[in-house]
Amino acid sequence: MEGRCPAGVCQGLRICDIDPGLCTGCTLCAKNCPSDAIIGKRKFAHSIIVDRCSGCGACADSCPKQAVLAVAGEDPS
Ligand code: SF4
Ligand code: SF4
Repeated sequence: MEGRCPAGVCQGLRICDIDPGLCTGCTLCAKNCPSDAIIGKRKFAHSIIVDRCSGCGACADSCPKQAVLAVAGEDPS
């Protein structure tokens, strides 16, 4: 699965966000992100550039602190 809407319409099958309260800035997620969508300095909370994120989920899978929250691609409200 590519993780990206083939029509380019959807923002992502999965939208991830990093909880700055849990993130230790270990950089693992940034190293594992195939889209170069995660920024941050070592030892500081990282963040995801949503426009670059394909929603692949690799960051959530690689985070040892469970700081990456994978949420549904649609606004629940
Ligand atoms: S979901 Fe994939 S593309 Fe998006 S920030 Fe995480 S690793 Fe990068
Ligand atoms: S892998 Fe987790 S703890 Fe490490 S920088 Fe990324 S979000 Fe933060």
